Amino acid sequence: MIIVMKPQAAAEHITAVKNYIESNGLTAHLSEGTQVTIIGVVGDKSRLSTEHLALFSDVDRIVPVTESYKLANLKFHPDPTVVTVGCTQIGPHTRTIIAGPCAVESNDQLMLIAKAVKRSGATMLRGGAYKPRTSPYSFQGLEEEGLRYMQAAGKEYGLATICEVVSLEAIEAAVKYVDMLQIGARNMQNFILLKEAGRSGLPVLLKRGLCATIEEWLNAAEYIMAEGNPNVVLCERGIRTYETSTRNTLDLSAVPVLKEKTHLPVIVDPSHATGAYRYVPPMAKAAVACGADGLMIEVHNNPACALSDGPQSLNFEKFSHLTEELKPYWTLAGRN
Ligand code: PEP
Ligand code: MN
Repeated sequence: MIIVMKPQAAAEHITAVKNYIESNGLTAHLSEGTQVTIIGVVGDKSRLSTEHLALFSDVDRIVPVTESYKLANLKFHPDPTVVTVGCTQIGPHTRTIIAGPCAVESNDQLMLIAKAVKRSGATMLRGGAYKPRTSPYSFQGLEEEGLRYMQAAGKEYGLATICEVVSLEAIEAAVKYVDMLQIGARNMQNFILLKEAGRSGLPVLLKRGLCATIEEWLNAAEYIMAEGNPNVVLCERGIRTYETSTRNTLDLSAVPVLKEKTHLPVIVDPSHATGAYRYVPPMAKAAVACGADGLMIEVHNNPACALSDGPQSLNFEKFSHLTEELKPYWTLAGRN
């Protein structure tokens, strides 16, 4: 449930409500909005008397939250969340572009790509050091060596960095080198991994599972947040359908649906969604137009020779062209 306090509620009245909730063994989450303060309650609500709560001074109303995700729920936190990642932010006014190779292949390759994407307006550098490949015989990533290259390239070009983690050991290593953890589609419901990412202290980009509903995805975000980590960003990357013309089917309607349900930032990855570089620009523009807070795009210095996901990677020229073309879309979407 949430308790909506009256506008200009006195601080001691807010504290009194919070203390009452906590003295009954539940957790109270304060969201101090521009108009009103909302107190979100997590825990066994049978231990609380709503009749008693309603009598507290400055309590305006008590609203039940029927969804199983609470901390990720827009009702708990009506203002959009802004997530700080290293030197940048992801939120309702930003033009976030996370770009880079599918996999970190070498220090030279990554430096070259970081320089090019920075010049074209990327705000973050991506690069996989642990690659959860469909085939066990495909390139599996440089692991900790790749993380070191990510740190060096991020530092060199002033880009915040993000790497996917696939195990508890990978999280332990990644926190030493990068600014944000990525939980990939294949691990969206790996609850042990989600909890550990929640405890890592780093912001987390949570990709949508290949067959996950929006409800399941928000519950996965809740696992991270329940560990005390409010810095979660959702990434729509396409879902599996009967259609085979594209690698996945990009569910852009997830963006406005999520905006109704959660305060967390939402970004779109048209690269993994479509699997073909030709479809990346139109879907990137559509994503910005429908309200996404940012994009994740795979960029490679030589896509034909990429060790993974070459067919969906943009070369430098195509990426630069796309970021130019995106400018009026960002402006029309109110991101200046
Ligand atoms: C990736 O971003 O490198 C990746 C593997 O994406 P996904 O988990 O969406 O397949
Ligand atoms: Mn990839």
